Amino acid sequence: MGVKEILAKLDMGSAARTAKDLENKLVFDVLIGGGPASAAAAIYSARKGIATGVVAERFGGQVLDTMAIENFVSVTETEGPKFAVALEQHVKIYEVDVMDVQRAEKLVPGRINEIHLASGAVLKAKTIVLSTGARWREIGVPGEREYRNRGVAYCPHCDGPLFNKGKRVAVIGGGNSGVEAVIDLAGIVSAVTLIEFGAELRADAVLQKKLYSLPNVSVITQGQTLEIIGDGKKVDGLVYKDRTTGAEHRVELEGVFVQIGLVPNNKWLKGTVDLSKHGEIIVDAKGATSIPGVFAASDVTTVPYKQIVIAVGEGAKASLSAFDHLIRTSLEYEAVVEEGVTA
Ligand SMILES: Cc1cc2nc3c(=O)[nH]c(=O)nc-3n(C[C@H](O)[C@H](O)[C@H](O)COP(=O)(O)OP(=O)(O)OC[C@H]3O[C@@H](n4cnc5c(N)ncnc54)[C@H](O)[C@@H]3O)c2cc1C
Repeated sequence: MGVKEILAKLDMGSAARTAKDLENKLVFDVLIGGGPASAAAAIYSARKGIATGVVAERFGGQVLDTMAIENFVSVTETEGPKFAVALEQHVKIYEVDVMDVQRAEKLVPGRINEIHLASGAVLKAKTIVLSTGARWREIGVPGEREYRNRGVAYCPHCDGPLFNKGKRVAVIGGGNSGVEAVIDLAGIVSAVTLIEFGAELRADAVLQKKLYSLPNVSVITQGQTLEIIGDGKKVDGLVYKDRTTGAEHRVELEGVFVQIGLVPNNKWLKGTVDLSKHGEIIVDAKGATSIPGVFAASDVTTVPYKQIVIAVGEGAKASLSAFDHLIRTSLEYEAVVEEGVTA
């Protein structure tokens, strides 16, 4: 929890006051929520001179939980919280109404869309860019949270290269993403152990074929991870139970990649926009969702590869699409706003 969230929790009356303030806001041209994708969307939209608002439960998003970022093109190396500050500073150069520590709870689509906030306020917008991101599914064993970013990682593209040659890692999860992670990591580290809970890997046959061809990979099926252990500073092992015999085993290693799924932050959107079977918002090449005027970007969508550099590109694209939608429908909106019709 950041300072802003702590202050909001301490000041019990602030939510009601904020709700009242927010209610008085005019209709936004575009309303955006979130992290790097929304920062990019906000910058693109504000530079068009249109009324832009950002609603974020925690401005910055996942980058706030990231230690080292080494793959954002043009920035050789930075830290997540530093990157988040840079995002906010860049957004605030423009006339963007940043409504931080505000959770969206309901989307009511219409010719003027409504976003209902947990504080009770209702915001109105002609177009919306949904970019509420995602979070990695946790395995929920002792040591996982304690050693997060100190050996426990979730993103092989991001953190794999931090485990140089000579390091041993485990990947938990034998689906496509787990097996892809193993194949990726096997080229970087000295040994990779794949631990799958079920009797068989669930990854595609072609991935499994590649996996079993690698000399530095071992695969454990029917393995239930019980604990991630360390020396207080960093991870040095993992304990799992063989589900067929009940025997417990310890694997010595320096890193654990949890690959049991990414959960899109979309619970509040169920029943409105079309979602994939994995719960991601289905978008087309322009970031358009199933609702006219509602666009979506990055981790919360079906767009593959969840990375910051992709998030900013997708955010910019969805924002340009929203602008395109606005200019094509502006006369219709003016009539609606004049009439005071909101749905
Ligand atoms: C530990 C970790 C390390 C990573 N390392 C790297 C790396 O090194 N390089 C890299 O490229 N990528 C990395 N990633 C992935 C990268 O951070 C994400 O791909 C990127 O942040 C996605 O951006 P986004 O804007 O789509 O969503 P997010 O960053 O998830 O932002 C979503 C935003 O929406 C807000 N939000 C969610 N629900 C609501 C709601 N109901 N109402 C209002 N606001 C809401 C959140 O508070 C947040 O501000 C890492 C991720 C993690 C977790």
